[in-house]
Amino acid sequence: MGFSRKLTLSFCLLTALAMGLADLLITHAVKADLIRGLEGTLITQARLIAQSGKPTDARRFAEACGCRVTFISADGKVLGDSEVPPAELAAVENHKDRPEVAAALLGRTGLDIRHSRTVGHDFLYAAVPLNHAGVVRAALPLTQIQSRVAATRRAIGGAALMVLVAGLLAALWLSRSLSRPVLEMSAVAERLARGDHAARVRDLAQDEHGRLGATLNLLAETVQRQVRELSQEKGRLLSILSNMVEAVVAVDSHARVLAVNPAVTALFGVKEEDALGKPFLEALRHHQLNVLLASVLKEQAPRSGEVRIFVPAELVFEAHAVPLDGGALLVLHDITRLRRLEQVRREFVANVSHELRTPLTSIQGFAETLRGAAKDDAAARDEFLGEIESGAQRLTLLVDDLLELSAIESGKRAPRLETVDLAALAREVAQSLEPVARRKDARVSVEAEAGLPPAQGDRAQLRRVLTNLLDNALKYNRQGGTVTVTTRMEGALVALRVADTGAGIPPQDLPRIFERFYRVDKARSVELGGTGLGLSIVKHIVEAHGGSVAVESRLGEGSAFTFTIPKC
Ligand code: ADP
Repeated sequence: MGFSRKLTLSFCLLTALAMGLADLLITHAVKADLIRGLEGTLITQARLIAQSGKPTDARRFAEACGCRVTFISADGKVLGDSEVPPAELAAVENHKDRPEVAAALLGRTGLDIRHSRTVGHDFLYAAVPLNHAGVVRAALPLTQIQSRVAATRRAIGGAALMVLVAGLLAALWLSRSLSRPVLEMSAVAERLARGDHAARVRDLAQDEHGRLGATLNLLAETVQRQVRELSQEKGRLLSILSNMVEAVVAVDSHARVLAVNPAVTALFGVKEEDALGKPFLEALRHHQLNVLLASVLKEQAPRSGEVRIFVPAELVFEAHAVPLDGGALLVLHDITRLRRLEQVRREFVANVSHELRTPLTSIQGFAETLRGAAKDDAAARDEFLGEIESGAQRLTLLVDDLLELSAIESGKRAPRLETVDLAALAREVAQSLEPVARRKDARVSVEAEAGLPPAQGDRAQLRRVLTNLLDNALKYNRQGGTVTVTTRMEGALVALRVADTGAGIPPQDLPRIFERFYRVDKARSVELGGTGLGLSIVKHIVEAHGGSVAVESRLGEGSAFTFTIPKC
């Protein structure tokens, strides 16, 4: 039941109760007052009749006073009654036991209110003793009083009705004016609960409602501020999460995905909306990570491990999972590069050891033979010493190349920039390689583009680059082949191309050709005195100059190596 109804109903009940009580008390008081007045009149009339009346005069007195008059003897017999014909008096029952008569017979004034069976009304009786003997009794019906009481009650009823209507109107007005601010406040509270934090109570009165409204507004302001702060905080966290390189997944206690960052969607090739709410395994389909998460959720302790993801390419991740709010947070840190570098380092050490072992073994073998059987054979001794020498040379070459490479790689040998005419330098290098060209019966030509600006680089290092490239172009060329060196501009860079007419490089080897110790045909390279480091050194030098190197090759037709160097 609403507040307004309750108020109205209580008001009505209270009014009804008050009016009922007033009716009861007033009716009683009015009735008592009227009866008291009537009693006085009746007693006076009875006394007057008692002084001069005789039983035969009963009717006359009755007419004069407007009341019933009865004469009763000392023994209670009715001697005369204004309402009973004389002939019937004998039949009237003895009145000595009537309370008022009994009192008058004892010499007092007797009063009583009774229902008269003789007449059929309520009567007020007053009896006084007669001078000689007996009693005079005057009686009046209470009908008059009852009608006056009824009139009084009607008046009270009318007043009650008016009070009720006025009260009802007052209650309605009061309940309206009380419930309006309450309704407004509850509407505001509902909007707040629905998330409309801008809702405020407008008309603030100077009463308790006003204070409550002001408190509600204060509460709304606090909530609004806190929500704003929280959403800003959330925004910051989200932007951190979305800009993180690491893939981050949050799951609940049942390993259902709560949040993923863009790194996850890119890595696993799933859409965020498809992953959210799904079990981890179903959403991201990675068994190993699922096991890791399950163990974190079970033990509620951090766990980490290395996992591999094979799509789109094989990637290695360090996975850290920590318990978070009953669920868990998984962070995937990409360590592919680290692992690859470790791998490269391991392979490099193995390769270096291997490369060193071959000449060392050969030196050791020839030395032992020399010490033994060949000691006295001059020809064999010369041959073996020659082998030992070439082994040592090979070792020196290898160690020189390794030192050169590590010096460039570690940045210890930064290029000392000067103006270099690449075509002229290429001619110089070709000149120095003349013996090699002659052995191959090969021809080297250098064609420079007209008006080409000089390059800016370290002359010694660029000489090394050109030597390696031209040496390769001659070494791996066919007998009687050609090597063509051309130069041209490529934007702000000078490009130099060394093209040969050799056997070419198989396409599958092309991407790895610049790796250390990578050789298409190792036996051939070793035979030709190669270390497998030449192109690696070329790449490092060119990149240290801010340029790049590329290769193109057709099997059976030849290869072309092009590098660029900033122009002067
Ligand atoms: P190497 O000392 O073996 O010549 P490089 O690093 O200079 O080492 O070259 C690596 C490998 O690339 C060589 O072993 C050879 O197989 C291949 N290569 C380099 N240049 C050429 C070329 N001009 N024609 C064909 N193969 C080449």
